[in-house]
Amino acid sequence: MNYAVSVGTATAKPGERAKGVIEVSRLASGDMVTLPVHVINGAKDGPRLWINAALHGNEFNGIISALRLVEAIDPAELSGAVIITPISNPLAFYARARFSPQDGGNLGESYPGAATGPITKQIAFHHFNEVKKNADYLIDLHASGVTNRSKSYSVLKYSGHPETEKRALDLLLVNGIHLNCSVDTLGKNDEPVPLTGSLDLECMQIGIPSFMLELGHANRVEEDVVQSGFNGLVNSLRHLKMIEGEVVKHEGQVVTTERFIVRCKRSGLVVQAVQPHDHVHRGDILCRIYDPFGELLEEVCAEKDMHIISLKEDCVASSGDRVAFGAA
Ligand SMILES: [Zn+2]
Repeated sequence: MNYAVSVGTATAKPGERAKGVIEVSRLASGDMVTLPVHVINGAKDGPRLWINAALHGNEFNGIISALRLVEAIDPAELSGAVIITPISNPLAFYARARFSPQDGGNLGESYPGAATGPITKQIAFHHFNEVKKNADYLIDLHASGVTNRSKSYSVLKYSGHPETEKRALDLLLVNGIHLNCSVDTLGKNDEPVPLTGSLDLECMQIGIPSFMLELGHANRVEEDVVQSGFNGLVNSLRHLKMIEGEVVKHEGQVVTTERFIVRCKRSGLVVQAVQPHDHVHRGDILCRIYDPFGELLEEVCAEKDMHIISLKEDCVASSGDRVAFGAA
């Protein structure tokens, strides 16, 4: 950029990089809660891309993908600026937990935050204030929950801002993920968690194209997932004309418009009949439920044509449990 970019305590002049922190508040120990931040300010003008990770503290793949990008970017060759917050909930990260142990808060439902609220809301407040000032695009890196078996997929939340949403979708698809789930947050949804209060949705509502990439699984570092996440981020920089190079095109990507939870009626042992990202048809068997003597109790079938987002990771089901998460 033709000006210095400052985020928290990090200030990078044109053609330089800087490290620093976004300060939040003090803990009882006196330690300051801080979010580490990298600012890579290009020598040339261009958009400002913010990459966020570990909003849930046990989602590790995105941290490593983002830090690999920090190493790979040469500010002398960059147009625009890349800002990276690799660990956006440090309290949950230390605990290797999804939520903050101090107040049980889910940072993913805490935006835009509150300056004097519980600590998780304070993290959201200080984080989002910097995002609002400094981001033209935001990519939020997550991972699928530990109770699910899945492959990487993405989530794009619509809320009646078509121009921003079009730019978000264009950027999303160059990340090369096969299954991309758009969700109309204004409509009726069957979702595992509330969609409100999320960083990506708050960004979309103020004109910052944004989406979530669910990279692999929580609680793990998966090298193939880390590398494909990194490749997608590099392709994003090419798409935004922030670095030189041909944008890699991807074939056969799916964009769905609704998501739903599939539940079993009977309790027992679950044996899956499909795989994540399979495209199944109405009436196809998704899984079978057996009793402890091996007798078949139930065949859980697809109620409509659908793509499998994720499946229950373990084989123990109680009546009404979620056995699959689908999109159409
Ligand atoms: Zn997450």
